[in-house]
Amino acid sequence: MSTYIAAIDQGTTSTRCMIFDHAGLVHAVDQKEHEQIFPQSGWVEHNAVEIWNNTRSVVAGALANADLSASDIAAVGITNQRETALVWDRKTGEPVYNAIVWQDTRTDKIVTALGGSEGAEKYKATTGLPLATYFSGPKVKWILDNVDGARQRAEAGDLIFGNMDAWVLWNMTGGVDGGLHYTDPTNASRTMLMDLDTLTWDKDICADMTIPMSMLPEIRSSSEVYGRDRERGVLAGVPIAGILGDQQAATFGQACLSPGEAKNTYGTGNFVLLNTGTEKVMSKNGLLTTVCYKIGDKPTIYALEGSIAVTGSLVQWLRDNLKLISNASEIEAMAREVEDNGDTYFVPAFSGLFAPYWRSDARGAIVGLTRFNNRGHIARAALEATAYQTREVIEAMNADSGVPLTALKVDGGMVVNELLMQFQSDILDVDVVRPQVAETTALGAAYAAGLAVGFWESEDDIRTNWAEDKRWTPDMDPAQRDKLYKGWKKAVTRTFDWVE
Ligand code: ADP
Repeated sequence: MSTYIAAIDQGTTSTRCMIFDHAGLVHAVDQKEHEQIFPQSGWVEHNAVEIWNNTRSVVAGALANADLSASDIAAVGITNQRETALVWDRKTGEPVYNAIVWQDTRTDKIVTALGGSEGAEKYKATTGLPLATYFSGPKVKWILDNVDGARQRAEAGDLIFGNMDAWVLWNMTGGVDGGLHYTDPTNASRTMLMDLDTLTWDKDICADMTIPMSMLPEIRSSSEVYGRDRERGVLAGVPIAGILGDQQAATFGQACLSPGEAKNTYGTGNFVLLNTGTEKVMSKNGLLTTVCYKIGDKPTIYALEGSIAVTGSLVQWLRDNLKLISNASEIEAMAREVEDNGDTYFVPAFSGLFAPYWRSDARGAIVGLTRFNNRGHIARAALEATAYQTREVIEAMNADSGVPLTALKVDGGMVVNELLMQFQSDILDVDVVRPQVAETTALGAAYAAGLAVGFWESEDDIRTNWAEDKRWTPDMDPAQRDKLYKGWKKAVTRTFDWVE
């Protein structure tokens, strides 16, 4: 009996392989960053071949770190940065263009044209999503419209599309030699091409976006044995049995398995997901309706999602572009150099604004500056931006669901930041709770795979394994909370209308 489950987490900044034991604890890990390619303002790309090479390398690395072989691994799960779109040739395995990353705004004109007189809500009833540059469909259209010969090759049936889950699965299961071209409903629900009720591709939307349906992967469930690893590598023969988009994986890994349970992941961006059960709740407040997970033949579970484009990546920007810090962890000490934000606000609308605004015309701003302000205020304003943006989506969620959130489960790279977590609790006026295993994204994918092969018996095992590590409780005067939040709201209005 194999004693571990492997998870591949193909994220925005890096690819990880994590090995989990039956208690859901991390046994081994390996991780590799990949290049962020910024060809021009607003464009963000990844080299998919680099990502696949990194995937193989971290899988081998994680197994080697724990001295394990394929026979120790019961199944593999895949989780991935969502929406990031890749088109490749099924005969050669070569991508026709870099992967266009979810943050990329190059499709803003395509998106406006698609909306026409009906505007941003055109596909919302079918897909749960407002028209925005964020989603995959318009990115695929951009590739077909702009890469020489791509449209003809796609129409001839040679090119296929996938998000990074499909790219990794196809390569793992044989690539040009019969690789499986599948995806799961959580990833498919972010393409803007899938009908949320039927979990099938919508032919009218595909026609509007001029995307041949032969390019699209088959939509399977999030937890089933899709096939076996056919590489000659370290996982040869191991079943691949789970696929979940990263935010849905984190929701699963955080054991948000009942309606009303929510988590917030603080990574490159922030993503709040609220499990709404088998009910598909349509947002009136700028949230997305999305598939939360579908375990085998069981009914589809839906979620409401508040997506925030820039949170942790603002810390990266202070590090890489301003050189204010040399390491992300230094931001906390710098923010503690000052008592408060000195009346400054930093609205990081670098990719426009996502939830609840969905304004692709917005661009970033630091407001409220006087000669008094220093680097500490900028550092603090940057961290506070994450907390204010989170409050905006939680307020939208409370309004949509009619049930106020009572505690927020958190995870992701930024939750080691004590100042941010306390401020988050203060500005939300609810408890913020961090689990012992903060790697919930990989863990969620491992659970999906482990359930499919009987390594875990039921979702109750996930609940049992979840354990609290730390809790922050609100400790701010209500008048102060209101004053800060009002300042933020005013700052946000200053970012609108920057792009015609
Ligand atoms: P992703 O999965 O989106 O690649 P992670 O969950 O690994 O991201 O989180 C990485 C993000 O967390 C980076 O954007 C980084 O700037 C931020 N980060 C890491 N450590 C800290 C810290 N101590 N304080 C604030 N932000 C941090």
